[in-house]
Amino acid sequence: MKAIHLRRGSTFAEDPLRLALEVLAENTPLKGAEVRIDSYSVEHKCASCGRSQVVTSDDLVGHLFICPACGTAKEIEEAHGLELVSVEY
Ligand SMILES: [Zn+2]
Repeated sequence: MKAIHLRRGSTFAEDPLRLALEVLAENTPLKGAEVRIDSYSVEHKCASCGRSQVVTSDDLVGHLFICPACGTAKEIEEAHGLELVSVEY
């Protein structure tokens, strides 16, 4: 059983990631591998108003998060949090 196991932050969009893996695995031994993606929550606390929330890819413009309460923009460093957990084949 071929499998790729990844871990992503909530800020990392899963669909484009799956698509990219499919394309990249073409013509490699990992073609057709099962892709397992766990996610963890990336929380952000606004420095201006103190509002905190879990940030998802839908909340980001590039790396920027705009606080829905006060409009303060903040760069989210974990915006591309992604790690490879294991590859089996
Ligand atoms: Zn705020």
